[in-house]
Amino acid sequence: MVGAFATTEPEASSDLSPQAIRTVAVQHGDTWILNGRKRWISNSPVAGFIVTLARTGDRLSMFIVDTTLPGVRVGEPDQKMGNRGQLTADVWFDDVELTQASLLGGEPGHGLRHALATLTLGRIGIAAAGVGMAQAAFDHAVAHLSTREAFGRKLAANQHWQFLMADRATEIENARNLYLKAALRRDAGEIFPEPEASMAKFYGSRLAVDMARDAVQAFGGLGFARELSADGTPGPVEAIYRDSKIGEIYEGANEILKWVIARGIFGKEITG
Ligand SMILES: Cc1cc2nc3c(=O)[nH]c(=O)nc-3n(C[C@H](O)[C@H](O)[C@H](O)COP(=O)(O)OP(=O)(O)OC[C@H]3O[C@@H](n4cnc5c(N)ncnc54)[C@H](O)[C@@H]3O)c2cc1C
Repeated sequence: MVGAFATTEPEASSDLSPQAIRTVAVQHGDTWILNGRKRWISNSPVAGFIVTLARTGDRLSMFIVDTTLPGVRVGEPDQKMGNRGQLTADVWFDDVELTQASLLGGEPGHGLRHALATLTLGRIGIAAAGVGMAQAAFDHAVAHLSTREAFGRKLAANQHWQFLMADRATEIENARNLYLKAALRRDAGEIFPEPEASMAKFYGSRLAVDMARDAVQAFGGLGFARELSADGTPGPVEAIYRDSKIGEIYEGANEILKWVIARGIFGKEITG
């Protein structure tokens, strides 16, 4: 069964405080009645259940919501600049009746902790995806720079590209080590392997965008192409450029992750 995870709403995402969340679950005897709307929910058009963050009183809780229940409606998939294999949509909950067993963890009020634990794990995955995209763009660029000639020599004979690729190779190695360190800490049982999880995600996702942009530049006009009409040559790197951008935004936007890291440096009293 495909699952989805829903914290984001039209008016709330980076800020997941109870004051910001408008999806509400109210207890009536043995049941909970869920009302609200979520946005950008990955997999929701094909999901069998959606783990959903809702306000319960003045705290937050998570509910496992069966998408076949009356009152659950999933919208049409969004049209995005990239990552099109990942379907996202709005989800509406209109007086959805949930059993007590739907409450994740069995007790209300622990939703934010569940959500942040899930997002922290997700960040490690996004970091790994960033490294993968950076590596793919890097490999394409190396192949092109080693074969394409201008001014009677290979592009890679120019020190500009040598230095740039030496920088990127070092950064990719750093990014890989960071997410592996976070993943090893998580595997060892730490639910919040910070600051490495946040560092790995912001560093790896930013690197993917930077490396993809460099690869587009290295390929020149062909870097900008989706497909050449003359002979159907596919654009080798433009999809990586489009797909990489979302890594800087979802699973905690990179500015929020730097805030998390800064909290560890200066303390919450100063950073908020
Ligand atoms: C393709 C895609 C898939 C997604 N999948 C899911 C999913 O499955 N489930 C889910 O719940 N959500 C999902 N999301 C939502 C995603 O997590 C949010 O878009 C993301 O957290 C950013 O929230 P926002 O869009 O509301 O931007 P906002 O919170 O409005 O932020 C806008 C910008 O302001 C910045 N900002 C905000 N506060 C501060 C601050 N204090 N200081 C400095 N800068 C700040 C942010 O970093 C960001 O750059 C998905 C989004 C996309 C596009």
